Parts: sequence; C-alpha cells; structure tokens
Amino acid sequence: MNVDHDQPHLNTKVHTLQTLTAGPLSSSIANLSASSRCIPSDKDFHFYRNFDEFKAPIADIARESQSILEAIGASGKIWGREAAPLAAGAFPADMDDAYDWLVSVNDDILERFDVMVDEFKRVRQEEEETGRPASSAAAMEDDGFQLVCGKKKRGGSRLGSPGNATMDSETSLAASAVKVATKDKKTAGPKPKVPFHIPTIRRPQEEYNILVNNSNMPFEHVWLERSDDGLKFIHPLEKLNVLDFVDKDLSNLVPVKPSSLDSTPFKLVDDVKGLKELAAKLRSVDEFAVDLEHNQYRSFQGLTCLMQISTRSEDFVVDTLKLRIHVGPYLREIFKDPLKRKVMHGADRDIVWLQRDFGIYICNLFDTGQASKVLKLERNSLEYLLHHFCEVTANKEYQNADWRLRPLPNEMQRYAREDTHYLLYMYDLMRIKLFSMPKESESSDTPLVEVYKRSYDVCMQLYEKELLTEGSYLHIYGLQGADFNAQQLAIVSGLCEWRDLVARAEDESTGYVLPNKSLLEIAKQMPLTTSKLRRLVKSKHPYIEHNLDTVVSIIRNSLQNAAAFEDAALQLKQLAASASDAVNVKSGIEDTQRHTHNSQNIKETIQQQGTDIIVKIKPPSLPSELPKDSLTVTEQHKDGNDSTFTTTKVTKVIHFKMLFQFFCLQLRSVDLIVAISLIGKWCHC
Ligand code: AMP
Ligand code: ZN
Ligand code: MN
Repeated sequence: MNVDHDQPHLNTKVHTLQTLTAGPLSSSIANLSASSRCIPSDKDFHFYRNFDEFKAPIADIARESQSILEAIGASGKIWGREAAPLAAGAFPADMDDAYDWLVSVNDDILERFDVMVDEFKRVRQEEEETGRPASSAAAMEDDGFQLVCGKKKRGGSRLGSPGNATMDSETSLAASAVKVATKDKKTAGPKPKVPFHIPTIRRPQEEYNILVNNSNMPFEHVWLERSDDGLKFIHPLEKLNVLDFVDKDLSNLVPVKPSSLDSTPFKLVDDVKGLKELAAKLRSVDEFAVDLEHNQYRSFQGLTCLMQISTRSEDFVVDTLKLRIHVGPYLREIFKDPLKRKVMHGADRDIVWLQRDFGIYICNLFDTGQASKVLKLERNSLEYLLHHFCEVTANKEYQNADWRLRPLPNEMQRYAREDTHYLLYMYDLMRIKLFSMPKESESSDTPLVEVYKRSYDVCMQLYEKELLTEGSYLHIYGLQGADFNAQQLAIVSGLCEWRDLVARAEDESTGYVLPNKSLLEIAKQMPLTTSKLRRLVKSKHPYIEHNLDTVVSIIRNSLQNAAAFEDAALQLKQLAASASDAVNVKSGIEDTQRHTHNSQNIKETIQQQGTDIIVKIKPPSLPSELPKDSLTVTEQHKDGNDSTFTTTKVTKVIHFKMLFQFFCLQLRSVDLIVAISLIGKWCHC
C-alpha cells in the first residue's frame, strides 16, 4: 500500500502528531469535550436562546462555523476528493444536507483510518515475520497487480460493497482509493488479497461492445433445434446415448501426471488468430479440461470473463470478454463433438454460462465434482481434490476476484491455469478408482456409469434468464424474517420492479443497483423525502444516489397501493409462524432437510395455497445476487424518530470523535479551531 512509506516527511509528521496529541491539542479537546456537556440541549437550548447573553455568542459561533465549514467544503484537497454529492464549494445551508455531508465525510475518514490501521498491522506483521523493515519497494511490485481496497468491508462479509460513491465519479474515487500491489514470489509475506469488485475497471460491455438481450422475456436458445410443436428446445445430447461415453476397459489405464505449471507451455488467447490456433489444437486431441471465470456483479445476466483449457501438454486461457463473439464460431462444434471428452469440475454453472454467452452446448462430459460425490470423498471442492489427488495446495483466494480485470495480472493468470491444469490427471485417477469400486446394489449402475449419467444431466440443463414476475419480490432474501406489513411489502415490490428495470436497461446486476439488504432497509424505514432516503443509503449505491426523487416517488406510490398487499403480508406472517412451529415440533428430528424453512419453501407454499401470486422459482444453483455489504443505519434512524434530540446528540459525539481522528491524521492545527466551531454548530442544530 502506498500509505506513507513514500511520503518524504513521514518522520516529521509522526513527531508532530506525537507532540500534538501529547500536548495542548489533547488537553484542549478534553476540556472542550468536558465543557460541551454543560451546553444546554433539547428544550433547554430553546429556553436559553430567549436570552441575548446566550443567543448572541451562539449566533457568532454558528456564523464562524458556517464560514469555516464552507471553506472545508470548497477544499476537496483535505480528504483527497470533493465531498460528493455537494456542489463544489458549498457547505449546505439545509440541515438535512449538511448532515448528509458530515456523514459522507465521516465515512471517508473512518475508511481511511481503517485502511491505514489495516496496513499498519500488515506492515508490522511482515516486519515481524521477515525480521526486517518492510520497504515500499517490496510492497509495490511491477507486475501490475493492484489491489484496490476502496470501501472497507463491513460486517465480516467476504464480498465487499459496491465500493464506489457515484456513477460518474468512479475515476475520481479510484484516485482516492488505496492501492496495494502485492506479489507472490514464493517469498515470505502476506498472501495477496483479491478484490471482489474493482470499480475503476472500464465496463467490458463498453470496452468490447458486448451486446446482450436483457428484455423480460425468456432466453432463446437459438443454436438449438426446437421440438415439432416448437415449445421445447432439443439439446444435442438427447440424440445420444450416455452409455456410449462410458469407458469400456480401464484396467490398463496409466494416469498421466502433468508437468509442473512452470514447465508447461502456456498461451493467453486474446486475438482471433490465437483462438483459431487453439481450435486447431483441440481438433487434434480427444480430451481436454475446461473451466470458466465469471463476473455476476456488473452485468444483469453475468459475463464469462475467461475460459481456461488444458490439454495433456498445454494450458490456454482465453479472454472471453475480448473474444466474446468469436468463441462460439471457433469452439462450438468442438464442445458439441461427442467423440471428444470434456473434463470439468462442478460444471453446473459453467454449462449454462457457455450456452448464454457463446451458444456452446456440451456433449460428453466427465464432471470431477460428480465423480467426487460418487466416490464419496470427504469433500467435493476442487481445492480438496487437488490436495487429495495431486498434493497441490490451491490458492482459492482468487476464486471470487473481479475477473474483468485487464491486463490479467500474473497471479490471476496462474490461478486460472491451476483450475484446469491438473484436471485430466485427476480424471485418470478418479476413473481408475470408480472402475474398481463395487456397485451399491445389484440393480444399480456401476459407479463409473453413475458419474457419466450425472455428468449427462449436468449438460442437459438449459440456461434460463431471470424474469420479473408479479411475485418476484417474494424472493428477496431476508424478507421472510422481516415481519413486514402491507405498506412495507408494497414498497419492497415497487423497489424490486424499479431496480429490475434499471438493471436490465443499464446491464447491471440487481444487487449492484440496490442490494437486497438496502432494499429491505428502505422498505422498513419508508423514507418520504430525498434527504431521508439519502441519509439511509448514504452514498453507497450510485443508482439510488442519482435517482433519489424517483425512488421517493416509488415509495409514495407504493404506500397508496398498500391495500393490495394485505393478503400477501398476512400469508407471509402465517407462513413464518407455521414454519417456526414446524421447526419447533421437528427440532429433535435429524432429517431437517424436508423442513428447512427457507424462502423457497415459502414460495412453494404460497403456490400450494392457491393464491394468485405467480412465483417463478429460480434454480438454486444460480444465485441472482451475491451477499452484499450491510447498510449502516444511524442511531437516529434506529429508533425511527427523527426528532429525538438525545440520539442526535449521540451521533454528533460520534461525528466529533471521527473528525478528531481525521484531524489528527491530517495534522492541520487549523482544524482544532474548526473542531471547536463544529461543536458550536452541532449544539445549535
Ligand atoms: P470456479 O468454478 O471455482 O472457477 O468459479 C467460477 C466462477 O464462479 C468464479 O469466477 C466466480 O465468479 C464464481 N464463484 C466461485 N466461487 C464463488 C464464491 N465463493 N462466491 C462467489 N462467486 C464465486
Ligand atoms: Zn468452474
Ligand atoms: Mn475456475
């Protein structure tokens, strides 16, 4: 991280900070803090304000604070960027806006502080481990891999928040985001962290002119034949017999161990010429391993970012964003060829991604994930299998990286290769094991046949586009436990519809436009003004930020329409109650599977109960949304009472503490005066 190693006056700054905090600043602040408690608040404040002796100095302080705050507002330099969303230079006169402004600044400050503390811990740990000081050169390697820890993760979620403040400020945020470069050269040091979302990446949709059909209509499998009645798509596998894929005799099979990654020829395929060469290579082999890397956060349906292919002797990584329209024409026939074995691990999602993005349909698959299940191995993850069969410790940290990143950093390239490099060898070892494994019973298939049948079924799945229906809002994760009334449900429904519309039009995921958690929070709080809404969501969701008016009018309209949601609210409550009863009754029974009270069950039950709510049940293997960051609700909102002075005071104190941290970090003595003035301002408001 380029924290302060590369800043020339670090030592002076540290010294100044120590002097400041040990000396007059801390005692001044302590005095200030102590005396601030004597300042009347609430009704007392208004009583005292009837007297000029009190009113005049308060007015002076307020005026002075206002002018200083305006100066701060105009000075983006202090925090590295303009304090969005204000017009440059203006500290807002409106109290709500001023509050938003403070919240936004505080967020920045806290975040910087957190990032710095994290970095400090990391550097210290590195120093402890290596026994030598961490140099900035060691931290900034030259392979171009940069970790952008934009927003600090909260709530322990592995997946970060959207991480950008406004739609068109992505670049400016990139400048303020802390960049970390790490490199794994098998040296001691921390493992590289990998961001789930890098907001600064130029959208591949624009970069590579990727066109998608996000209309609220079913996906057309244009590369498949249709049944005579035109109602059904026919997968090429339907004309084939799975038993033809099963290896006849494996008694002489000798597993082929792959060369090390470093001594295996590798090709990054990022032009049509390379793709053509790859296709020629694949035509000459009768088995190859495949895997995909995907991004589901910054597009409505998801985008396949990479395709990894390994033959017995070579590794390839195809840039499927750049070559998106060329992949199908060059590789479609090869994947469909029943004489070519395709080996994949846990291919369920890959199968439908290939269909959606390239019109590729697979025949003749061996899924090592299914093989692992049939072999009843301890675990079925690729990580486990690599360890178990190949004694390779996979670094799965990249699994969830932002695979849209280009140029692809070396580490990510290496990780991607590892996902297919060992698969053919594992396939050999697994087939041998399966071949020697006894049948479960006389009437059952042999384990090997079972694996091919399961793999066949995996291939037979067809991609389905997510469709918005009248009852889609009931899918929202977390709705079941929310205990919402009809008004709140109406808002959930309205917001679902809005975010779906925006997500389709802008080719963003619904989770990026408005994460479930925030959606439920808005429905719960029912903000009726743009400033309340902004305060609730802060600057976390650019689409909300840019459409505050629209969202507020959706909330208002939904409230008028709430009567239509009375039934649904009642049924959700009844179902929640019966689900908890069922769990109570069955709590002692081991087989909990049939009684999991998830939202899926609720949807099914609603259907069974014959209501008119149409619910499309999504395949569980394709989550439409990843878990998102939590939404921080201010104290003021937790109790749902906007005029609660006591809670406002609590928030003010928190603000003050945060600002104080920030001022210390910034080492600007003038800020002490600002801090003092701010106290006056806050007491006043
Ligand atoms: P894999 O099959 O492990 O290579 O994963 C393929 C893609 O699935 C990745 O590029 C991710 O987009 C997604 N993915 C895999 N594991 C996770 C996870 N734990 N959380 C979210 N997405 C994941
Ligand atoms: Zn995969
Ligand atoms: Mn992979």
